[in-house]
Amino acid sequence: MIINVAIDGPAGAGKSTVARAAAKELGYIYVDTGALYRAVGLNALRIGVETTDAVKVAETLDSISVELKFVDGEQQVLLNGENVSSEIRTPDASMAASNVSAIPAVRAFLFDLQKDIAKKNNCIMDGRDIGTVVLPDAQVKIFLTASPEIRAKRRYDELIEKGSDVDYDDVLADLIKRDYNDSHREVAPLKPAEDGVTVDTSGLTLEESIDKIIETVRNKI
Ligand code: C5P
Repeated sequence: MIINVAIDGPAGAGKSTVARAAAKELGYIYVDTGALYRAVGLNALRIGVETTDAVKVAETLDSISVELKFVDGEQQVLLNGENVSSEIRTPDASMAASNVSAIPAVRAFLFDLQKDIAKKNNCIMDGRDIGTVVLPDAQVKIFLTASPEIRAKRRYDELIEKGSDVDYDDVLADLIKRDYNDSHREVAPLKPAEDGVTVDTSGLTLEESIDKIIETVRNKI
């Protein structure tokens, strides 16, 4: 039987780090669905389309391909065949992703891709609507969260580590704006699945968070 684990939650809750490590331990693939929205957002930025313009962004979908490739278990996101996995990580691409993700045509465009991967692979898939919309039948659903300040600090440290010149207050303001966008949009808003468990990582170390996820998965399957 194929096992699907859905991990949803707000930006900076540690989903990707925790999910990647837990997937490795469990021998599942890790699928980061945010990368797909980021690729669509990046494409719009590159060609100068306003990322909040639903009609124009929807038009861009006719001429792009977005794919996920797994190399040695690591996900790469390909935009028109080009590996854009690093380029999608900038603050501008984050905000562009949040904007385009509220557009129903974009969500529909990326839906089958996510479903197909989950159908064929044991996976931990992270995002905002995985347990509620994309994989409503996932055996395990986790809502991973933490306070906005802690999430902003983690994201800030991550960006500084990568050499970005960012300001903590800007990171916090961006994160609060993205949370608001993600949880107030009409399609697939960010919210815990009714049949899922919530894990708050505010007081947990990374190791503790990973252990908690692995334990939750093992208890459920
Ligand atoms: O997870 P990440 O921060 O990379 O996601 C970038 C943006 O993509 C989020 O702010 C959210 O707006 C959007 N997203 C989404 N649904 C998903 C994954 C990401 O709407 N399943």
